[in-house]
Amino acid sequence: MERVASKEEVRQAVLAARREDKRIALVPTMGMLHEGHLSLVRAACGRADYIAVSIFVNPTQFGPGEDFETYPRDLERDMELLRAEGVDLVFTPTPAEMYAGDAHVTVAPGPLGELWEGAVRPGHFAGVCTVVCKLLNIVQPNLAFFGEKDFQQLVIIKRMVRDLDLSVRVESCPIIREPDGLALSSRNAYLSVDERRAATVLYRALRTAETLALGGESGAAVLAEAMRECIADEPLAALDYAAVVDPATLGPIGALDASARAIVAARLGSTRLIDNMQITRGA
Ligand code: AMP
Repeated sequence: MERVASKEEVRQAVLAARREDKRIALVPTMGMLHEGHLSLVRAACGRADYIAVSIFVNPTQFGPGEDFETYPRDLERDMELLRAEGVDLVFTPTPAEMYAGDAHVTVAPGPLGELWEGAVRPGHFAGVCTVVCKLLNIVQPNLAFFGEKDFQQLVIIKRMVRDLDLSVRVESCPIIREPDGLALSSRNAYLSVDERRAATVLYRALRTAETLALGGESGAAVLAEAMRECIADEPLAALDYAAVVDPATLGPIGALDASARAIVAARLGSTRLIDNMQITRGA
């Protein structure tokens, strides 16, 4: 496994792999890897011959006052985990390597970037789209892997690839959870013992909506209200949003269709967590 920090070295390494007719996969991450990230790496290993993983805490997707400086980092441990998975290339650029000092051109996510996470974190998805577009241009993979954990991000990246005619296939992977349902996230490391216990409320809220839907409830507003009540019952959690939305447009729906997505965001102390689940209406 090779670790490189410059775009040029990535281009050279990938070029050599491509000359050997290898199918290239990219797994973009911000590091502090856990089983969720590794599930993407394993999916990539199953579909491609040359696996590149990027580890870059992207400053442009963090807003003022967010956790860019304190975001957990452990490159040595990450490298060990990736070596064990048989990854070929790890790209660990600095912000100065990624962005020219006077870089001003960005990728605009459009209206999807204004909803939900975008409403709470203005500019977040412009930062995400810009860095993902750059990573795709640097690595030029055949396939790129993203987790459903960040469902809105996944939807926006699929749109970006379609709307900008980027030459890559976006593959999505299911959410990996702790045994008690909490979705794995690098930010879970911030939680106190009490907050960690309370953090399962996001999963419980999603399961409440799922159970109601399977029982025949089809009103999206009813399901969303049940999720809000669930979060309100947890004193350590403060709700940002809970909704059941169209999985393609992330917009509101009246009644449950073939499938819908329940989405939730809440704060446990100073830690913001997000989660989501596919919701299907029962007979
Ligand atoms: P991050 O390092 O948080 O930017 O995440 C990198 C990639 O891993 C993104 O595509 C995430 O959606 C994905 N990911 C993070 N947590 C999980 C999880 N619990 N299950 C599946 N994928 C995840």
